[in-house]
Amino acid sequence: MDVSTQSHLKTLRDLLTYRLAELRAEVHAAKLARQAASFEASAEVVDRKDEAAGRESAAIDAAQEQRDRDELEEVVAALHRLDVGSYGDCASCGEPIALPRLLVQPSALRCAACQTLREHAAAAARAV
Ligand SMILES: [Zn+2]
Repeated sequence: MDVSTQSHLKTLRDLLTYRLAELRAEVHAAKLARQAASFEASAEVVDRKDEAAGRESAAIDAAQEQRDRDELEEVVAALHRLDVGSYGDCASCGEPIALPRLLVQPSALRCAACQTLREHAAAAARAV
């Protein structure tokens, strides 16, 4: 990790800590919403149209919640890397991740080049 990144570590840690609190709140709110929805569903008879709309929005909520959970894990992992001193090094090539990339996505695990390669490989694997 280079010196300019080093001097930004506190900012990055603040960003990650803030995002962590935000994600925890979102995941918690989603859990409460799910409990409220299942309570409502058991408490009243809904007509079929409402039921279909309800299932659709529940699926969207579940996808959003999963994304939040995934990001939460990434943020926790990034904070751990900060603690052990491996933060900011690309997990694939070991080179320092560019600071602008870290400021946009503090939980980034790879440099832009390795991430792009990885996404292309994943897309190619899906296409087969
Ligand atoms: Zn890399």
